[in-house]
Amino acid sequence: MPFDSPDQRRLRMSSDEDYFALLDRAKEQLPEVAENHDRFVIPEVDVMQEGKITVIRNFIDITEVLRRDGQHVLQFLLRELGAPGNIEGRRVVIKAKVSPGMITDKIQTYTDTFVICSECGRPDTKMNKEGRTLVLECEACGAHRPVNVKKTSRSENVNSLKEGDIIEVFINDVGKKGDGTGKFMDYLVVVPGTVKGATVHAKITKISAKTAFASRTTEATTR
Ligand SMILES: [Zn+2]
Repeated sequence: MPFDSPDQRRLRMSSDEDYFALLDRAKEQLPEVAENHDRFVIPEVDVMQEGKITVIRNFIDITEVLRRDGQHVLQFLLRELGAPGNIEGRRVVIKAKVSPGMITDKIQTYTDTFVICSECGRPDTKMNKEGRTLVLECEACGAHRPVNVKKTSRSENVNSLKEGDIIEVFINDVGKKGDGTGKFMDYLVVVPGTVKGATVHAKITKISAKTAFASRTTEATTR
């Protein structure tokens, strides 16, 4: 059994002290957001199936990590899965047979859409409503932009607009009647009351072939 000589022990202690001092200093220099980022781990879904019922046992644990309202996450999940369900305590009961992989997938999509900052990739965001537009505010980098809800269901055409969609559009031209127009995906979007050069949020009110008519909601506030 080797014993340290007093000298060796002193040496070790002093190098430990140096090490801890260094570590403390390194920690102080780390921006706080980096620590928040490290802690962001979405819990693995704990799924139980009972016949045609699927239970997510740790649903609220997941929404707490996401820092989002359980009902908001649930509504997204149910719409994506096309199944009814509800929150019971900290669990969610879905009235359909859904695989854990599918649920994980949908929660990832929710996270990418409603939690992760599209500018800096961090999860330190808050979701606010501005008028009828959902806006993601990033506490890490200060980005402030409308939530870009992607259509992810395989059954839905990803490149289609529908009535009621709220989009952000750059007005790059003015139509014959004096209405501002812009391009969104394949569509020509007509937004009355806008001027060339503006970026606006607009709600789609009518779609005719590849022309979409929209009413302006707010001036875009993205930087
Ligand atoms: Zn950010």
